[in-house]
Amino acid sequence: MKNISILGATGSIGQNTLDLISRERDKFKVIGLTGDNNIELLAESAIKFKADVVATANDSKFHDLKDLLSEHKIEVCAGINGLLEVASRQAEWVMSAIVGSAGLQPGLRALEAGANLALANKESMVAAGPIMKKMSEAKGVKLIPVDSEHSAISQVIRGEERNSLSKIIITASGGAFRHLTKDELVDVTPKQASKHPNWSMGKRITIDSASLFNKALEVIEAKEFFDFKESEIEVLIHPQSLVHAIACFCDGGMKAHIGPPDMRHAIAYALYEEKRFKLTLEDVDLAEVGMLNFEKPDLNKYPALKLGFDVVRQGGLAGAAFNAAKEEALDNFLALKLSFLGMADVVRATMEELLSKNMLSSKVELEAVMDIDLQARSIAKTFVNKF
Ligand code: NDP
Repeated sequence: MKNISILGATGSIGQNTLDLISRERDKFKVIGLTGDNNIELLAESAIKFKADVVATANDSKFHDLKDLLSEHKIEVCAGINGLLEVASRQAEWVMSAIVGSAGLQPGLRALEAGANLALANKESMVAAGPIMKKMSEAKGVKLIPVDSEHSAISQVIRGEERNSLSKIIITASGGAFRHLTKDELVDVTPKQASKHPNWSMGKRITIDSASLFNKALEVIEAKEFFDFKESEIEVLIHPQSLVHAIACFCDGGMKAHIGPPDMRHAIAYALYEEKRFKLTLEDVDLAEVGMLNFEKPDLNKYPALKLGFDVVRQGGLAGAAFNAAKEEALDNFLALKLSFLGMADVVRATMEELLSKNMLSSKVELEAVMDIDLQARSIAKTFVNKF
């Protein structure tokens, strides 16, 4: 039996992970689950899966969560210390599925405690890839990609020699607004941006998919996971969301990973540590699909993507700053204080200011990452009213 924990258990990835666990209950023991505001779902999941310990990130929900679990022998904790407590418990495998930079410390703690970490929380790799990798190496544990593109990359390069690889292509659906022109994006709302044509995901990543900020994060994540240079990563718009990554080799050969747009494939590949598990999900019927289309993204319409490539080139603390500025911009878009297109303007202006002050070149260490995160958010705030 494998001991597992899920950080961000109440979210889309967390619940999909529990769905997979429920198919083979005798193979897994759930140690800990965490959530934030949705304590009802957290309690329900903890009871159903007989978790030992749960934590809500929200301190003010501690007593309500305790009440919901009063008839069960499940330990309850709260706040960042609660999350770290759950992440520290002895688990062999931990899913890191908190959204945003809040996932960094708990994920890192799980690695430190000796768990193999399945990483959906791309933000921790973007902000602190070298720290995550160093910890996994020091502890001799695996860092397993869960993002569908990165899971696909790991599958297409498996067994290949690194120096035979000339380029990797990751795909983007184009999100909610792929049929709109840049001019038509001026007035779009968070509600419109929250509807993804192919994937069912949390709200923030769905909006990031419409702006291609999500793809920008994934470009940086690809660099951190697999040590690609900027020139070795390409993004293509692929509206069907069936091809997730393509490896291009020096002899002209290409290997593509095709799978349905259902995160349970990538999660299962991570859960079974790169072994195949029979999933009763709908297969892709290629004859019915008929055509797979690819096109180059319009960087004028999707300025966020260019910013992501800039970060890959800049290195250092650029990833942490970019992610923090992006989170601040997204918060303001959600609060109707910033337009959809204004998000990229705010992030670009923030990055330019940090670069001009030479604030991104320090070594990637946890304290420096946390510090630049705060600085980037505070600078981004000052630009919100200007765009
Ligand atoms: P959701 O918004 O659906 O879930 C987020 C989870 O994080 C919830 O459990 C939420 O708790 C918790 N959470 C939110 N804020 C905090 C906080 N400040 N501290 C601690 N916990 C918090 O997100 P997704 O499941 O869609 O995404 C999770 C991660 O996986 C993201 O990094 C995303 O980029 C990545 N990812 C997601 C994919 C998808 O298909 N959904 C695909 C690839 C990557 P609560 O709900 O209780 O408030």
